[in-house]
Amino acid sequence: MSSELIIYNYQTSRVKQELILQYIRELLENLHSNKIDVDFLQIVDGNKLYPSTFNLIGKILKYWSNDYHDLSTVCIYYSFFGLYSYLKQRNIKNFDFINQICNPSSKKQQKKIRDDLINLVESDTKPNFFNSIIITGNLYKLEAPHGVAIGDILEGGICLNSNMHRNSIWHETAHLLGANDHYDKSNHYQSIHCDDSNNCLMQWDSLKGNRFCKNSLTEIYNHLEKFKKFGI
Ligand SMILES: [Zn+2]
Ligand SMILES: [Zn+2]
Repeated sequence: MSSELIIYNYQTSRVKQELILQYIRELLENLHSNKIDVDFLQIVDGNKLYPSTFNLIGKILKYWSNDYHDLSTVCIYYSFFGLYSYLKQRNIKNFDFINQICNPSSKKQQKKIRDDLINLVESDTKPNFFNSIIITGNLYKLEAPHGVAIGDILEGGICLNSNMHRNSIWHETAHLLGANDHYDKSNHYQSIHCDDSNNCLMQWDSLKGNRFCKNSLTEIYNHLEKFKKFGI
């Protein structure tokens, strides 16, 4: 069995886009060298292969590019993946939920987002968000030091990054593959569920890490097994 892992990534240059793809490939190689089966995952460059979906997502993402942090991620996440679940229930007439989840700064902006989402719903090229992850780099102001992630490869996921550091990209992408944070949310510097807190990439400041600890590898392993069973 093989599954596509579609990466849509939004960077300011093609060079940076390539770099992200390179980091993801290296991440999978790293997991492979840690005896995690990732061979069934085929990385697909969504930017190139599905340009219409790429453009649609980009259009929506722009609304939040100057906005602030984690809440935006939640909005973006539900705009895409929540929208898709919603469509699956075939109740596409009621768009009230979009107004509830969007948090734009003005009514006018809210209407624009709503219109774009409706266009997205009604467009001929229905976007497929299964197996997709969206990675953005260095565009966003975030509360977390380097990035924020929501969702996973089972349902689609998105991570926003405030820099292009490999550790940060790995940390956020690892979330989408099933890894948890290994720090206490109320006290960022206290490690939890971690067996190598000095070096683990799932610590609060991933730039201080250099590897995935055993527990994080187990989390990824378990999640990917679930994906193999239930994913598409
Ligand atoms: Zn994290
Ligand atoms: Zn750890």
